[in-house]
Amino acid sequence: MNENLDTFEISQVQLHKACKLMGYDSHIYNALKEPEKFIEIKITMRMDNGETRTFKGFRSQFNSARGPMKGGIRWHPEENESLVKALSAWMTWKCACVDIPLGGAKGGIICNPKELSNAELEKLARNYVRKLSGDIGPNIDIPAPDVYTNPQIMAWMMDEYETIIGKHAPSVITGKPLELGGSAGRSNATAKGGTFCVREAAKDLSKDLKGATVAIQGYGNAGSYAARLLQDEFKCKIIAASDSQGGIYNENGFDANDAFEHKVKTSTVVGLEGTQKISNKELLELECDVLIPAALENVINKSNAANIKAKIIAELANGPTTPAADDILYNKDIIIIPDFLCNAGGVTVSYFEMVQGYYLHFWTEKEVFSSLDKIMTKAYRATVKKAEEHHTDNRMGAYMIAIERVVNAMKLRGWI
Ligand code: NAD
Repeated sequence: MNENLDTFEISQVQLHKACKLMGYDSHIYNALKEPEKFIEIKITMRMDNGETRTFKGFRSQFNSARGPMKGGIRWHPEENESLVKALSAWMTWKCACVDIPLGGAKGGIICNPKELSNAELEKLARNYVRKLSGDIGPNIDIPAPDVYTNPQIMAWMMDEYETIIGKHAPSVITGKPLELGGSAGRSNATAKGGTFCVREAAKDLSKDLKGATVAIQGYGNAGSYAARLLQDEFKCKIIAASDSQGGIYNENGFDANDAFEHKVKTSTVVGLEGTQKISNKELLELECDVLIPAALENVINKSNAANIKAKIIAELANGPTTPAADDILYNKDIIIIPDFLCNAGGVTVSYFEMVQGYYLHFWTEKEVFSSLDKIMTKAYRATVKKAEEHHTDNRMGAYMIAIERVVNAMKLRGWI
């Protein structure tokens, strides 16, 4: 298997394999493999120092057969067309896998938000919506936060959209602040959904999560909440964590909340008292029960898959495992909870936010998480069953469920 593929090509390799397992012919694969619409924009704006700067942005609208498209907006210096397209494809399969009535999209701007002032962030957010206002909307495409975007940025975007159309339309965007129609539980929904899947995987291994050892790569929104939830609610032992500056390790465990506070104070987990420094590479190969990649793409690949010792890999990050690594891990009997299932909690609670916004009736956090648990558990169980029936891995199980739903919707619409 060629490991030099870009992220979108990797997503297409996965899709092609799943189409073959489903017995679909090349017409169906061709109808599924590219975004319906890909938009590239340029935003030129005056910065605080009086100079003008031009930013490149994207929106990839992958598939709308099952409903309005949904997907986050990522602001990152390494944002690129291939990544946005891949993420929009995974959003499509994610919504279909957990069976919420939405299609998939994704957007982004190439920028480093850490270098921008608050006023510049607001200008960038409003400009992005101005360029895309005809292409997004509650019944068209509904953005949300992703890496380096947050509820405040969603609030500016919603306000700009409502100003353009001249009326309230809170359901144009999700991940909003609670005061503006956000949902309880949205901030840690991705991690929460992932922990429900880990609980189910542990059941399948007849493994008690109490005292189970966990290593987590990436200590941002997804990773740090997962660490704290697994520790506080499931009594797991967090033995390793990392971020872009490196990792920390203690075989007897450390407090996930202390690690979080240490990162807030020093902007890294590295240096937490009572831990030793390890590299990101070492973290992935540690002896542990649960490994959670929650940072970057392609970190588990041909070069390290054979050395992975975890019993469960819960992919909170999008695209952390390459196709070649998938084959190696399957032969080692490691349970993979594939990305677009494992991290579907975020979009599911975004969907709840849309529903609550339509009814102008808001649920408690307990109600949100109880509904989330039902959806995640059902999707996890269906994935494992499908994979077992077809003697394949969970990623292919999840793909088969998702693409069958999308293909059926496309057939009913008369598209294929
Ligand atoms: P984030 O920006 O909050 O956190 C990212 C973390 O990764 C940070 O701790 C950062 O230091 C770390 N990191 C960056 N480069 C690294 C490197 N080279 N090695 C190790 N760690 C590194 O982002 P997030 O929202 O937590 O997203 C993380 C992943 O989860 C992404 O793949 C994202 O698409 C996925 N995801 C997140 C959500 C969500 O709701 N937050 C939903 C679905 C999927």
